[in-house]
Amino acid sequence: MATTKVLARKRRSVRDRSYLWELGRGIAVSTRQFFRNIFARRDLFTVQYPEEQREYPRRYRGLHRLMHREDGQVRCVACMCCSTACPADCIHIVAAEHEDPRIEKYPALFVIDELRCIVCGFCVEACPCDAIRMDSQLHCEPFTDRRTSFFGKNVLMDIGSLSNAVQGGRIKKLANSEH
Ligand code: SF4
Ligand code: SF4
Repeated sequence: MATTKVLARKRRSVRDRSYLWELGRGIAVSTRQFFRNIFARRDLFTVQYPEEQREYPRRYRGLHRLMHREDGQVRCVACMCCSTACPADCIHIVAAEHEDPRIEKYPALFVIDELRCIVCGFCVEACPCDAIRMDSQLHCEPFTDRRTSFFGKNVLMDIGSLSNAVQGGRIKKLANSEH
């Protein structure tokens, strides 16, 4: 026969019940941080953006970039793996036959809707030829016109060629370039 064991509730001390101790600790932390930020500025977490910009961590997923072949052409072979894997359905590709018989296809049109993108990185994972990356260290700037959120092949390739220059976290406005 099953027995029921009743556990006595642990009685909290007066100090715990009053919350004054924890309240005092919280105020002490805030006060210490306040004076550190004013006099030492070592722990100041507020960044005066955009004048002041911090480098993003390496794992940060930034704007997409399309990689280049050695001859400068786009590396993408229009296999559609990225657009198939994209859960937000924001990659649109139109494939075309390449004039070079060694290359089967290329993207005549390659557009990413950066406003719709949820920055999951699935497209990068799905790409079999490392043609798309999200290590640009760039982030989307606010869009005032919905049309500028569509990044076309040329823009994505420009970001690809800028990649070395932007690895330090510099922000460049590319949305208004040719799509
Ligand atoms: S990061 Fe995710 S949502 Fe954005 S384009 Fe790639 S697969 Fe789609
Ligand atoms: S970027 Fe990669 S996955 Fe996407 S279509 Fe091009 S080759 Fe395929």
